Amino acid sequence: ASLDAIDAREGEVQAFLEVSRDLALAAAAETDRRRAAGEPLGPLAGVPVAFKDNMHLVGTRTTCASRMLENYDSKFTATCVQRMLDAGATPVGKTNMDEFAFGSSTESSAFHCTYNPWDTTRVPGGSSGGSAASVASGEVTLALGSDTGGSIRQPASFCGVVGLKPTYGAVSRYGVVAFGSSLDQVGPFGRSVEDVALAMCALTAGGRDPYDSTSQDCSVDFLEHLEDPIEGATVGVIPSLMEAEGLTDEVRHAIEAAERALEDQGARIVEVELPNMASSISAYYVIAPCEAFSNLARFDGVRYGYQEPGCATLAEQTALSRAHGFGEEAKRRQMLGAYLLASGVYDQYYYPAQQVRTLITQDYARAYEACDVILMPASPRTAFRFGEISDPTQMYLSDMYTISNNIAGNGGVSVPLGLGEDSGLPVSAQLQGPAFSDRRLLRFARAIE
Ligand code: GLN
Repeated sequence: ASLDAIDAREGEVQAFLEVSRDLALAAAAETDRRRAAGEPLGPLAGVPVAFKDNMHLVGTRTTCASRMLENYDSKFTATCVQRMLDAGATPVGKTNMDEFAFGSSTESSAFHCTYNPWDTTRVPGGSSGGSAASVASGEVTLALGSDTGGSIRQPASFCGVVGLKPTYGAVSRYGVVAFGSSLDQVGPFGRSVEDVALAMCALTAGGRDPYDSTSQDCSVDFLEHLEDPIEGATVGVIPSLMEAEGLTDEVRHAIEAAERALEDQGARIVEVELPNMASSISAYYVIAPCEAFSNLARFDGVRYGYQEPGCATLAEQTALSRAHGFGEEAKRRQMLGAYLLASGVYDQYYYPAQQVRTLITQDYARAYEACDVILMPASPRTAFRFGEISDPTQMYLSDMYTISNNIAGNGGVSVPLGLGEDSGLPVSAQLQGPAFSDRRLLRFARAIE
């Protein structure tokens, strides 16, 4: 059914970089065999799942939507992917993304754009735009994405699906091509909170991954308290964020409606503040490019990926492989990171950015003394048109509500609230929670979905 849906919709949506038809059919046949033989079936048995193309899966290429890795065959399978397969999931393919996950629209893929299933003149968001679109279009039931500064929550919001960025460390990063190692986190997209909870059970089953030193044992039954009432709980709202420049009226109204829905269910609404949140984008665009520059140094034209032919020296080969293998945004980020880490410069930017990071983390800790979760927009606006935002710094503002959570390492979930009153496009709320409270987060998400 999933492959049929792909045949029907992929022409206009183009969510995938590779459809792994053979792997999918083999996995489905194995599920059938087990069922016929009366063998135990996993909780995701037969569920079609797509993976962002920065996740290794043996039998597929892992390109990160870059010419640099255009022909790179996965040599091993990422833990997050393996855990979905262990739960019985059917791997349907690899989804489009911004190159190396740098972006908010999936327009920086080296191969093609992905079109928002609600309106194909608009972007699906990014960088996990292909994963969000593959679920929104009905091509798959679940997809995995990665979120370094908002890349699960913002595309989920643009495509009207649920997207969870779990707490940093909750899901293993082993086998996921690194962007900003201290910020990156893998998480699921689904059409309902329940589906996302089910995916979280699979992703955390087996506990800590010894191959990722930052991973933690977060294996709980995410479905268990999903329907528990939220009566008596406290939900924080941040007045200054609701007046921020760039926030559209329709998104503000939808968040206010979600606030009332939570209140109607017996939650208490309190005002909290994150005084340093305004600095989060600045801090992120120092920390993330520095980490990206360091991580992408491995693409040297020798060990991985694209190698410029006919070079006389090693230096020339490295320089030209990188010049021709990386796209514009990937180069911009690395140039920025190289500059920011230069001696004499990093004192001015990198250290202060890390200090801001500490302040933001402390802000959250203080806020969560007064509330259980925080309600805010996922994105200031609904999906924009292709080419509408061409200035990189304007594009960077797409994540004004999501980035601070990556900086602090907390969990956040984007929950669809229906269609906006002005644009008629999907609008979402975001719920954020303290570290390792992702199950609680899903319970609140369930209450407003
Ligand atoms: N849009 C942000 C960026 O461009 C976040 C990307 C992400 O989360 N991978 O860096």
